[in-house]
Amino acid sequence: MTQVPRINRHECCGCGLCTLTLPEVFRLIPEGISEVFAPTNAKHKEIQKVIDNCPVNCVHWFNVTN
Ligand code: SF4
Repeated sequence: MTQVPRINRHECCGCGLCTLTLPEVFRLIPEGISEVFAPTNAKHKEIQKVIDNCPVNCVHWFNVTN
């Protein structure tokens, strides 16, 4: 089992903090919100920092089976 970050797109306010912090994982899309495009491109603790700092708490870990 692996944990990957997911964004609740209904809650994301598009502040861009995650994309500034980890542009190798998160990017803003034309809809004005962020998406995870490379969930394994950063260490767990780096992503955890983004999760902790998201102002609307819309980034969460999601379990995927390998
Ligand atoms: S930090 Fe949170 S609210 Fe801001 S763009 Fe990223 S996911 Fe959206």
